[in-house]
Amino acid sequence: MSFEKFNFDQKIAAGIEACGYTTPTPIQSQAIPEVIKGRDIMGLAQTGTGKTAAFVLPILQKLTQGPRRRVRAVIVAPTRELAEQIHENISQLGCKTGLRSVAVYGGVSKFGQLKMFKSGVEIIVACPGRLLDHLDSRDLDLSGVEMLVLDEADMMFDMGFMPAIKRLMKYLPQKRQNLLFSATMPNEIRHLADSILKDPALVHINHSRPTALVSHKLYRVEKSGKPALLNHIIQDTTVSTALVFTRTKHVAKKLAINLEKAGHRAVALQGNMSQNKRKAAMDGFRLGRFNIMVATDIAARGIDVSGISHVINYDVPATVEAYTHRIGRTGRADQTGEAFTFVTGEDRGIVRQIEQTIGAKMIVQTADIKYSAAPVNNQPAAPGADGNRAGRSADKSGAEARSGSAAPKTPWGSKKAQGRGGEPQRRNGGGQNKASNPRRRRSAPLGVDFSSQPQRAGAKTGRNSA
Ligand code: AMP
Repeated sequence: MSFEKFNFDQKIAAGIEACGYTTPTPIQSQAIPEVIKGRDIMGLAQTGTGKTAAFVLPILQKLTQGPRRRVRAVIVAPTRELAEQIHENISQLGCKTGLRSVAVYGGVSKFGQLKMFKSGVEIIVACPGRLLDHLDSRDLDLSGVEMLVLDEADMMFDMGFMPAIKRLMKYLPQKRQNLLFSATMPNEIRHLADSILKDPALVHINHSRPTALVSHKLYRVEKSGKPALLNHIIQDTTVSTALVFTRTKHVAKKLAINLEKAGHRAVALQGNMSQNKRKAAMDGFRLGRFNIMVATDIAARGIDVSGISHVINYDVPATVEAYTHRIGRTGRADQTGEAFTFVTGEDRGIVRQIEQTIGAKMIVQTADIKYSAAPVNNQPAAPGADGNRAGRSADKSGAEARSGSAAPKTPWGSKKAQGRGGEPQRRNGGGQNKASNPRRRRSAPLGVDFSSQPQRAGAKTGRNSA
């Protein structure tokens, strides 16, 4: 089966060839004909399935006909990295079409974006906040939009973007084609779909199971043993490129610094970094200058770096969905990958849920490590310690922090317990605990028997609530 069956314009076929795609992925086979027919789409697909090209190719096909130099398609994505990536995909696949796109997001000057609007672009790929900024100040006219894509809709909901999305609709013409993509289908996304899609074709690619090409392993470890365990794993020669996920920005930053000090080519990606630094980190990771990226969940959706051999959950994700997204960073486009999850006694509930979702028990790994290497303070920063107030430093993913304050409901509990952007904050303040005492850490065993860990009495995190 090849792309020829879609009868794409020759210029688009040239772009497909330039990208090296020979066979459509299942989501492309299902979605492209429906989009070309003009139908609305509800696409349920996990990351790494070729979802971007599934909407970019038919958009390019449609836009090769008709007027130029006015905005005819808008793609909305939750994070800057994802917006950049979609924009790059459009530039590659559409390299011969003469169609132009621009990525629009906050954290950078508006100047370049305004210049592109003036020069005439046909496709806008945007994060909701900055897009609304431009619309509110009448810098941008979307009255000629024929196609709207909402990508990673469930993440947009999690990040509190729904009010912004609803407001955006008012700037768009009533008559348009809508493509909605989401990795999961919570009720809120169902409602969104009901309100904007007309007679949609349902495209459903195994959305709830993390890619089958990934092997899922867990390490039972005490919190204090995590740095040494990570160091040990990374020294393993099979780890060529690793994406390490932490729960907080603070730990991501510290861990990257410590890994670098230990001689690894590591870089952080977290929402406290300026957009330039984020871009430099992403580019460096893509080009192989860094082979380890320590990231908060902002990276879970946006990153498409080929050949990530390992995803390491230094901290377990808050939800099964977040696990799916993190793991989707490896095993992409038919490559195999490994997912390691560091699990403490507190994490049993979420691990059980993950195992239900992947349909198997995670393989328990052991590591023979007797002492801890570079210590990492697992506590959030004390108020003002790194320019943030504890409890407010959560990562709005640098996506567009301004547009939403609705905090997602996570197993961690209430809005108060979280930061503004979806990275949950601990409730126990910034003080040192036993685990962060290096002297204690040195004697802390790794590979602790998970099953023998008592459940924390009266633990308030609620993470084992399932
Ligand atoms: P996505 O799910 O859109 O992020 O795509 C995941 C990866 O698969 C990206 O690196 C794409 O360039 C790649 N990809 C998309 N479609 C195809 C295809 N038909 N053949 C090979 N690779 C593809």
